[in-house]
Amino acid sequence: MSGAARLPSVDRVLSTPLARALAAEHGASATTAAVRAALDALRPAALAGELAADQLAPEALATRARQHLAERLAPRLTAVFNLTGTVLHTNLGRALLPDEAVRAVVQALTTPANLEFDLATGGRGDRDDLITDLLRELTGAEAATVVNNNAAAVLLTLNALAPRKEVIVSRGELVEIGGAFRIPDIMGRAGARLVEVGTTNRTHAKDYAEAITERTALLMKVHCSNYAVTGFTKSVSEAEVAQIAHARGLPLAVDLGSGTLVDLAQWGLPHEPTVRDVVAAGADIVTFSGDKLLGGPQAGLIVGRKDLIARIKKNPLKRALRVGKLTLAALEPVLRLYLTPERLPERLTTLRLFTRPQADMRAQAEQLLAPLQAALGAEYTVRTAALFSQIGSGALPVDQLPSFGLAIAPASAKRAGRALARLEAALRALPRPVIGRIASDALWLDLRCLEAADMPAFTAQLPRLAEALAQE
Ligand SMILES: *Cc1c(COP(=O)(O)O)cnc(C)c1O
Repeated sequence: MSGAARLPSVDRVLSTPLARALAAEHGASATTAAVRAALDALRPAALAGELAADQLAPEALATRARQHLAERLAPRLTAVFNLTGTVLHTNLGRALLPDEAVRAVVQALTTPANLEFDLATGGRGDRDDLITDLLRELTGAEAATVVNNNAAAVLLTLNALAPRKEVIVSRGELVEIGGAFRIPDIMGRAGARLVEVGTTNRTHAKDYAEAITERTALLMKVHCSNYAVTGFTKSVSEAEVAQIAHARGLPLAVDLGSGTLVDLAQWGLPHEPTVRDVVAAGADIVTFSGDKLLGGPQAGLIVGRKDLIARIKKNPLKRALRVGKLTLAALEPVLRLYLTPERLPERLTTLRLFTRPQADMRAQAEQLLAPLQAALGAEYTVRTAALFSQIGSGALPVDQLPSFGLAIAPASAKRAGRALARLEAALRALPRPVIGRIASDALWLDLRCLEAADMPAFTAQLPRLAEALAQE
């Protein structure tokens, strides 16, 4: 330890064999920047005389520069294991897409395509045309269009159909979806005036009828998505609100949120009205997400009456909110899977995950129990556990899917909270981070989203868990 010890110069570090190798691979500018970063990071400790001579050696600095370079060049968006039990996890990217969609996206990324080119006439095409026939067939609606996400679909619909006019919504449906989507705010931004009717728990048909004036442009129903109103409640069906609206020559818009295209009850999942049901009930416009129950890419789908869709498409916001070719490339094959609904549970990734038999997850949990316990050592105890997964993204919030997984608890009650936090951080620090859920003094790993094909990658990194724990 010597206070006189000095950091080597940038040039001195760059002349080491390691730095030369880095420069050969990554170029001089990035390597020089990494060497400077390594020197800057060590400077305070070096000035304070806290570093030993070997830490100040040019070779040691080159090794640190290699670390800086590796971190800088590593992707920030990386694969994780979603063992949270929430299949459509908004923070983890929602729906996983089927291979058909992946192949179409790769092709769209690497080759020119007829995005807005009519191959029949050689003239200019409309990008919506790639999916409108499919959407019409799958929903029974007259017309369809697509924008960046469902929040955009609602914003655009309101701005196109109700500028400076009133929109009637039940107080029981003024939802806030996570991430700052609130119906009253969107309404304001769209330039429409919200007229609230009914109460939080009860809204009657006459509440809608009596609120209609010459300033009314639209009646709207919103799917409650992430909450349920139970107890002494009353809401008015889409069909009834549609009748009230149509009797006064007004349209009804329904924001379905998740918006499924098939009745999920046929696979033992909770029933949710389909987009087709809502169109048939008389809704003039229906908006829904592409990456929730539909199982596709992030998108906002708008289906409904031809004249209203035409107005929506003419609105300048449509251009601002339009989807890119990657979205369309992914969406088209996903919609096409719905043309053969019997095969959906094997072909549509999200539905496959929703319908996985509990016995599958149980067998996996039993298989993983010993290796996980071995990796964690005596500080933690692992057990298999029956648990419940959620669909997520506000879809069917109160319904749960029987699942199976692993519960990890600290072996000692002393400082158990700290031990759980360390475990959670260590799992997150693995090469492919494992994201679980802490509840009831344990860390829970729900295996629903760990499919057989993911098992080798999952078990391969378990031995690194001890190392990761030691560092937390
Ligand atoms: C999720 C949801 C939205 C927002 O959809 P995004 O695709 O996330 O923009 C809007 N309305 C309802 C009712 C929802 O459930």
